[in-house]
Amino acid sequence: MARAQSRLSAEIDFTKEGKQHGFVRLPYSVHRSAYGWIPIPIVCIANGEGPRVLLMAGNHGDEYEGQIALAKLIRTLEPEQITGRVIILPAANLPAAMAGTRVSPIDGGNLNREFPGNPEGTVTSRIAHYIESVLLPMCDGFHDLHSGGASLQYLPFASMRHSGDAELDKRSLAALRAFAPPIAIIWAFSGAGTYAASAANARKVANLGGEFGGSGTVDRSGVALVEGGIRRFLAHFGILPKDAAPPASVKTRLMEIKGKHYYVYAPDHGLFEPAVDLGQDVVAGQLAGHVHFIDNPAREPVPCHFKTDGMVICRRAFGRVERGDCVFHLATDLKT
Ligand SMILES: [Zn+2]
Repeated sequence: MARAQSRLSAEIDFTKEGKQHGFVRLPYSVHRSAYGWIPIPIVCIANGEGPRVLLMAGNHGDEYEGQIALAKLIRTLEPEQITGRVIILPAANLPAAMAGTRVSPIDGGNLNREFPGNPEGTVTSRIAHYIESVLLPMCDGFHDLHSGGASLQYLPFASMRHSGDAELDKRSLAALRAFAPPIAIIWAFSGAGTYAASAANARKVANLGGEFGGSGTVDRSGVALVEGGIRRFLAHFGILPKDAAPPASVKTRLMEIKGKHYYVYAPDHGLFEPAVDLGQDVVAGQLAGHVHFIDNPAREPVPCHFKTDGMVICRRAFGRVERGDCVFHLATDLKT
């Protein structure tokens, strides 16, 4: 049976030249609006035949650096500056972006766990399906911009996720090097398999991700990194001339995350006191922190430890923890 088609529709014509602003209309019939739709902003900037990329932020609504950088790009990038086509989706999960939350307030959906999506599913799943089935097939390159969300703080980095296809991984790695972040991460394990990156990998579209800040704030250096990196990404694909992108200012440290043993989780409910800082090098067995019991202060705090050597690339932003919350994760230098 053929897969059902998306019922989302774009107001703009992706085959048209020039710069178009509009909305992807997601039919949404509710009490206050029987025939209404959710307006997900979309922009297409096109100039002749050439490479095509999709730039996306707001996959998680509480991750802001990418949303801001893409809004700025929308206002400054003009068709005459480029060759090919740039599609920009700056607030992919619009309900979550407007609420400033990771998941959608409509259905609790986490867009980056919904791919490839379902045209008959929840609102969030329908957005994932539209991106997967309509936008990605039109593109040679894709960048999905993240920032950890309210609960996590990252050292800013750009990233790619292994696809299992050596030729595709080579194309994504070349784009990652061109982005030229201070830290480049390769997610070297499969993870959930329902990420936007998983969908792009399945479509054989060279793709990047990245975490450019976190803890629900806006990091100035993170915004600047995305702005410069995106222009170098566009130049890498031949969409912008090389001299229209700012040169890389740092040497990239290439790192990887090899599996679940790179993560440390809270062992109990309570208040977490970290024992290390972001950017610190740690060894297997080293103390990561303690969970304190403020409601029973006489109880001994419960420690947790790192399972492997590495550098702390991510820490939990909130002090309160429940058993199972990620408190740290590591990255290690890629051995070439
Ligand atoms: Zn995210």
